[in-house]
Amino acid sequence: MGDPIVLDGKTLAKATEAELAQRVARVVERSDGALPVLATILVGDDPASATYVKMKGNACRRVGMDSRRVTLPEATSTEELLAAIDALNDDPAVQGILLQHPVPSQIDERVCFDRIALEKDVDGVTALGFGRMAMGEPAFGSATPAGIMRLLDHYEIPIEGRRAVVVGRSPILGKPMAAMLLNRNATVTVCHSRTRDLPAVVGEAEILVGAVGRPEFIRGDWVREGAVVIDAGYHPAKVGDVELASAIPRCSAYTPVPGGVGPMTIATLIAQSVEAAERRIGIAS
Ligand code: NAP
Repeated sequence: MGDPIVLDGKTLAKATEAELAQRVARVVERSDGALPVLATILVGDDPASATYVKMKGNACRRVGMDSRRVTLPEATSTEELLAAIDALNDDPAVQGILLQHPVPSQIDERVCFDRIALEKDVDGVTALGFGRMAMGEPAFGSATPAGIMRLLDHYEIPIEGRRAVVVGRSPILGKPMAAMLLNRNATVTVCHSRTRDLPAVVGEAEILVGAVGRPEFIRGDWVREGAVVIDAGYHPAKVGDVELASAIPRCSAYTPVPGGVGPMTIATLIAQSVEAAERRIGIAS
């Protein structure tokens, strides 16, 4: 087999940002100079979450948007977080709201996600948005799986009729990923911690998505020859959820770690924020 295709999220994200900057300029022009705003909410002291929020704010500024940071203490209650979300829902200057996951354990994260107004749910985290997306109705998709779909489409990876295996079923990654692949007519299997004989199920995948949250948990020798390998994981040792070094010689395409899924998540969040801003003033994208 020839060298696999590198699904280069970093380069695609950069190109996406260049296109978004032009769309933002058009929105600003038609809004009397007011910049579209993405509000980010960070609760607590998790350093990784703080880094992600900072990266998202920086991406806003690169495309000419503004970002408004809301930072709440570790001891924040569900009611206090809901009040902060309500204020942003009611603020006409804010087009998109991102609540950084995970929040501290005393907070009911699902209730808080679901408080975000549907038209401002640019990170695609509400149950209503998920349901609409799964039904094929217009809604912003969850940013990480939606970014993966953009990457697959950019590289013209065929999806229809192919066997896809998603390892992980979290509300913001595995489940919406499975729904998006199903909407595109893949035959989808979703694996989780109770799945029996995971290596055998993974071995059937023509499109494999690793979304487990454990470093190099999916072994390279489980991967089917010619598979497309999408690794959503990212860990401090700069490895993902798939043992990529041994998967690469077997696969036909793969996302590098870092530089694959991560940049596409941010680019998709920003793209959906720009779309929300365009809709607000009645410009079709
Ligand atoms: P999560 O909420 O912890 O979910 C992990 C999933 O993996 C769960 O569904 C769990 O199954 C499953 N799992 C755990 N152990 C397993 C096992 N032994 N066999 C099979 N399945 C197992 O994680 P997440 O938020 O979806 O994140 C997953 C990964 O993606 C992480 O590495 C995270 O860092 C990464 N991520 C990246 C981005 C990005 O922008 N690049 C964004 C979000 C997440 P159960 O449901 O049965 O517990």
